[in-house]
Amino acid sequence: IGHQDSWLNIKAFINGMRSISVGELSMEHIKDTFCYIPPRSVFKMKVRSKKGDTIHGVYIETFLDPEKLGPQYIRGNIKKVNEAIAVAQKLNAKIIALGGFTSIVLEGNLNPFNTTETKITTGNSLTSAFIIKGLENASKELNIDIKASQLLIIGATGDIGRACTNYFKGKVKGLLLCARNKKRLELFSKEISKEGIAVKYSTDLNHLIPEADIIISVASSKEIVIENHKKSVLICDAGYPKNLEQKIDVKAGVSLFHGGMGQIEEGYDFHPDYTKYFYKYPAPHIGHGCVLEAIVLAFENIFKNYSIGKGNITTDKIDQIYAMSVKHGIELAPFYNSQGLWG
Ligand code: NDP
Repeated sequence: IGHQDSWLNIKAFINGMRSISVGELSMEHIKDTFCYIPPRSVFKMKVRSKKGDTIHGVYIETFLDPEKLGPQYIRGNIKKVNEAIAVAQKLNAKIIALGGFTSIVLEGNLNPFNTTETKITTGNSLTSAFIIKGLENASKELNIDIKASQLLIIGATGDIGRACTNYFKGKVKGLLLCARNKKRLELFSKEISKEGIAVKYSTDLNHLIPEADIIISVASSKEIVIENHKKSVLICDAGYPKNLEQKIDVKAGVSLFHGGMGQIEEGYDFHPDYTKYFYKYPAPHIGHGCVLEAIVLAFENIFKNYSIGKGNITTDKIDQIYAMSVKHGIELAPFYNSQGLWG
């Protein structure tokens, strides 16, 4: 289950689904109608494991307004995500990945559906694994010594932010933690510093940015402004809409990659195949960690609520899902950003 993160993507997606003979719809027309479309299955998928198995799934679009994801729209959005879950249940899905914003229904028991048959996961464990492995590999490639680096995590109190903080504590020189809610940030940072870890925290990114050698950004926000960063900072931009990329000159010494992404060695087939119009990547068979987590669980016949709630992702869980993923040929995606592949 997913949603689109910009009107530009939505325009490409909607016009891609329509036959060429009926002509393109204008942005205005799309904006007027898109959000009234009820959640529905958009394409089927077939995914292959390197162990020889094949699994079958569907992509269900929620048709959420990308500009209306704030707290004031929460009721309507939760209603739509629950309708999408009902579509998946009707299709007898054994496991559902709630991609990006749609995982909101797993916070605070907001999902009224009986999900004893259909299991749900946010996919945040495998997403965290790909973020972590990505940073470790990118640091090696760029000769950055992680142990001697200050690591900034934007969105540190979120589900993925906490998982990354807990994984890297003790493995870096110091942690710089940022989120907007001061109380939550203070509480979490104090928990970490009690373990003897060097932590600096602030709700003001400007206080942390100049010290950061490496940045993980995992916030759902367009509002982040990044200034005064080190010239050769390494950035893993894993949030949606993309948190930092539009605000930074990726050509001027900064190394930025889209994090949390994996690649399926044996490939997948979509039917109908809309990959020409949306989900365009600079390498084949790339997918989001959240969706890939449900795929890995299906390959493993593990039908349980794997990643749910906030702050439950342990380093052991990250290692476990990553090992299962690699077993089926689902590995870290090559490094890329909107300019294409690195190097
Ligand atoms: P959560 O909602 O659990 O956490 C979001 C975090 O961001 C919180 O700490 C929040 O804290 C913080 N935050 C939000 N806005 C800002 C801001 N302007 N400045 C600083 N901090 C901010 O989300 P998840 O951990 O579940 O997901 C994080 C991101 O990762 C999302 O954007 C999601 O779409 C993306 N994602 C990517 C996947 C992939 O495959 N690449 C898969 C799954 C998720 P506070 O409210 O206090 O600011």
